[in-house]
Amino acid sequence: MAKYKLEYVWLDGYEPVPNLRSKTKIVEYNSFPSLADIPEWGFDGSSTKQAEGYNSDCKLKPVAIYPDSTRKNGILVMNEVLLPDGTPHHSNSRATVKDDPDSWFGFEQEYFFFREGRPLGFPTEGYPAPQGKYYTGVGYSAVGECAREIVEKHLDLCLDAGIRHEGINAEVAKGQWEFQIFGKGSRRAADDIWMARYLLIRLCEPYKLDVEFHCKPIHGDWNGSGMHANFSTKYLREVGGKEYFEALMAAFDKYRNEHIAVYGPDNHLRLTGLHETQSIDKFNYGIANRGASIRVPHSFVNNSYKGYLEDRRPNSSGDPYKIASRILQTIATVPTV
Ligand code: ADP
Ligand code: MN
Ligand code: MN
Ligand code: MN
Repeated sequence: MAKYKLEYVWLDGYEPVPNLRSKTKIVEYNSFPSLADIPEWGFDGSSTKQAEGYNSDCKLKPVAIYPDSTRKNGILVMNEVLLPDGTPHHSNSRATVKDDPDSWFGFEQEYFFFREGRPLGFPTEGYPAPQGKYYTGVGYSAVGECAREIVEKHLDLCLDAGIRHEGINAEVAKGQWEFQIFGKGSRRAADDIWMARYLLIRLCEPYKLDVEFHCKPIHGDWNGSGMHANFSTKYLREVGGKEYFEALMAAFDKYRNEHIAVYGPDNHLRLTGLHETQSIDKFNYGIANRGASIRVPHSFVNNSYKGYLEDRRPNSSGDPYKIASRILQTIATVPTV
């Protein structure tokens, strides 16, 4: 028997962007447990904007586990928040994602490292050299003194945890980075994005750095942060076709406002029509067009309109559960024949 440290992670009730919360439970197992062996737990919802003090218990229902290589016998446990009667709490956006093993998502999470209210590498007063050399750059003057060390450690932590990282890169603004996560199953990539965010925020504590997920932390001629959502269903991958694709895009146009509503706060500051974005009040799609709302990869058209599509509107602080949920809801309105 060994004592395992189970770190229960969940989303709190703050609006418009939930915070990550976690606490540790020690449980003994003979060997590394499976999800079914992880007990439900609870917490004081009155401290997380999820309950009133007079009736404060909320339940934690484990939904995914990840090895935590920073701790001896460490396991990260992702949870849904339930009411005492076992129904989903209203903050539980994961419960709204239709469970479908054949829906796949890939999210491209952009973010800034912040120190004392400014992006890492910004001078105390004024601005550094304008954008140009930072994107995929190398060298102290491009990326600062410790960003790469953190990004590398984060990548290893995520890979150790079984998170399907696909890549990382330095982004266009100084202090800005990206990682990409792919997952098969409608909830998998979203679970992994939240856990990867958790690992990154925790990793930055001793560096006295915060991770800034706001979509436009620096005004002016500095890129904002997105979280492009690449998606495919079994039908899109295996059947597709131009007619179906056009009907799908008509549905995305029709539900434009419903999508924007869950694609992250303050998105009007980022979706301006500049900096590789379409403006927030327009919907369009385009082949290989990075200024479109939805980018259609060349491979999709060349493969008889089969494959995946990229919704470029979701922003860096969006909730991937809400984003996946909305995309699947819109897809479900389009008949597949
Ligand atoms: P770019 O920066 O050019 O938009 P990236 O390589 O950063 O492209 O991201 C594209 C993402 O698309 C990949 O990381 C992957 O997660 C996702 N992806 C690839 N194939 C599929 C698919 N069949 N279904 C859903 N997502 C996919
Ligand atoms: Mn990318
Ligand atoms: Mn990017
Ligand atoms: Mn992209």
